[in-house]
Parts: sequence; C-alpha cells; structure tokens
Amino acid sequence: MASTVTVLKRRTTIRMSEVAAMVSPTSTTKSSLLEGSKGGGDVAKRCCGHKHELVGYEALPEFLKHNEFVLDYYRSEWPIKQALLSVFALHNETINIWTHLIGFFVFLALTVCAATMVPMETGVATSTVHLANCTSDPTVLMAYYGTNGTAMAVQAVLRHNVSASVVETELASAAAAGHPVTRWPFYAYLCGAMFCLLMSSGCHLLSCHSEHACYVLLRLDYAGITGLIVTSFYPLVYYTFLCDPFYRTLYLAAITVFGAAAVAVSMLPVFEAPDLRWARAALFACMAASGLVPIVHKLLVFGARPEAVLTTGYELAMGAFYLAGVVVYGARVPERWLPGKFDLFGHSHQLFHALVIAGAYTHYQAGLVYLSWRDMDMCL
Ligand SMILES: [Zn+2]
Repeated sequence: MASTVTVLKRRTTIRMSEVAAMVSPTSTTKSSLLEGSKGGGDVAKRCCGHKHELVGYEALPEFLKHNEFVLDYYRSEWPIKQALLSVFALHNETINIWTHLIGFFVFLALTVCAATMVPMETGVATSTVHLANCTSDPTVLMAYYGTNGTAMAVQAVLRHNVSASVVETELASAAAAGHPVTRWPFYAYLCGAMFCLLMSSGCHLLSCHSEHACYVLLRLDYAGITGLIVTSFYPLVYYTFLCDPFYRTLYLAAITVFGAAAVAVSMLPVFEAPDLRWARAALFACMAASGLVPIVHKLLVFGARPEAVLTTGYELAMGAFYLAGVVVYGARVPERWLPGKFDLFGHSHQLFHALVIAGAYTHYQAGLVYLSWRDMDMCL
C-alpha cells in the first residue's frame, strides 16, 4: 500500500545534460541531488527555460498515483508547455515516452518500406529487391518468392552480389502470373500499431498535466491498445480465410465487436482504478488470446503449408512477448522487490513497452509472409 512506503520528498529537476551522471540511479548520485535541494531550500533547477519540480509519490494527487513502488521523479500538474518540453528531460516517464515514440517511428519507417516494396502487378521484381531492405529475416524473403523457382535469385539479393537488374529479370518472369492480394488488412495493422504507440507515448508525456488530461489520454491509450489487438487479427484472418468469406467475415466481425466493447468498457471511470490493474490486463489478454481460435482453425485447414506453419510460429512468438508484457505490467516487477531503485530506469512499465514493440514487430514479419502466400497462390 502507498501508506507503507516511505517517500523522500525531493524537489529538483534533472536536465538531459545530467543524464550521464544519472545513468545508474545509485544512492551516491541521488544524494548529490538531494544535497542540492537541501542546501538551497526549495531549489528547482531550470529546464527548458522554466522552473518546475519533480516530486515524490506521496506528494502526488490521487489521479497520478499508479505505482507505489516507483517512489520519485514524478511530474505533477505541470503546465502543458512544460509537460511537452519534458520529453527532453529526465524523469520517471522519460523512458516510457521514448520507447514508444521510437517504436512509432520504426513502424512509420516499416510502413513506408512496405509501401515501396509492395508488389504491384507491374513491379513485383523491383519490389522484391526493395523487400530485401525491409526485413532482416531471410525466411520472409525466401517465403516471398521461394515457391516459384526463384529462390536463388532471392538469395542473391540477400547477399547483394548480383545487380538488381539481373534479379529483376529473373523474378519478372516468375512473378508475371502473380496478382497481388488486397493490402488493406496489412496496412490496417501497421496503422493500428502506430496509433497505439503514438497514443501511449502522448499519454505518458502529458497525463501529468491535469486530472482531465489524464482521464482523456488514458482512454486514448486504452483505445490504442485495443486498436493494436484488433488490427493484429486483420492480416491473420483476412489472408488465412481469403477464400472462405463466411469465416473471414465471422472472425473479423467478432474481433471488431469485441474491440468496440472493450473501448466502451474502458470509458468507465472505474476502469482506471489502480486495484483493477489485473482486470485491465485480463481484458486485453483475453482479446489477444481469442486469436487462438482462428490460428487453430488455420492449422486445421492449412497445416501442411509452410506459410501456415511459419506465420503460426511468428504468432506464437508475438503471443509470448505480449504475455510476458502483461505479467510484468500486472506484477510490477522488478520495482516491487526494490522500491525506488528502478524509478528512472528498468521499472516494469518500461519493460512492458519494450515487449509490446517486440511483439508488434514479430507480427509485422508474419504479415509479410501472409502477403507472399496469397500473392503467389491466391485461393489455391
Ligand atoms: Zn505505457
């Protein structure tokens, strides 16, 4: 409980220039900061041209009390401008902001990359050359055009020892018969991932401003998580059941309705109560776990196909990342074991963010395999 935790009220602000000295929040570095505070009374260093302070957990208003094991370096009810500028300062949300902000730009780059590599009916070969720069996974490339006799050409692209024109010539004939399947489920997923990461980053940056801002931003954050989960189903369901409109529509409708219901429930004020941390985690985990139904269905129908096995492997890896993230988020480890020692670096929410990005990237790789599968075979 919060009342059992002793919190040192410290009033200080840390600039990025001090980050180097704060890489490890040891007692030594902390005490030096404390000395500055004690020596100068209510000293607040200046950051970004404005005076503001970081406070301890017990000084927070109720709406900012989410984790009693993170004891210090909180921003509390800062003006919006200072909250925005604090993206460049060090506090206990800095890593949370940047992990998902960087993740957003990574997915933006992946989207641009995918848009340039998407095989059009007249540009499959060129796109495959570009694809070699969009994924680090040779199995994705081999899956992409490895089933039509052009595996050696793709390997050549990977080794970068054959000119693009030669590869294009070899691939062009092989891909001439290919008609690319619709891309919207794949891009819906990329948009869902970017929306989730951007909302999360914005929530961590600005929810310290006011109770109203916190309320609105947390809803957007929950909507982003829901959007990521729902759109993750779209490539899986659409491309697996491309030629079975009944199940394709059934699964897409079910997860979309489920997601809409989750967003509606998350609008209730009680949803953000700290004690309901596990309930929130369980809701999102159940949504994600329902993906097992179309995955098992896929294996029953297409279990003999290498694409089905490969995408299932990616989906299981994604599930493992997300499950680990949910467990860390709910259990609040490692800060539970050493309260105050992970305030700036290494607390559970930062680990949760990293695991979300890993899971989302794994699903992106699965999406590339789905595209290659259906581009080549359509309904075969
Ligand atoms: Zn977060």
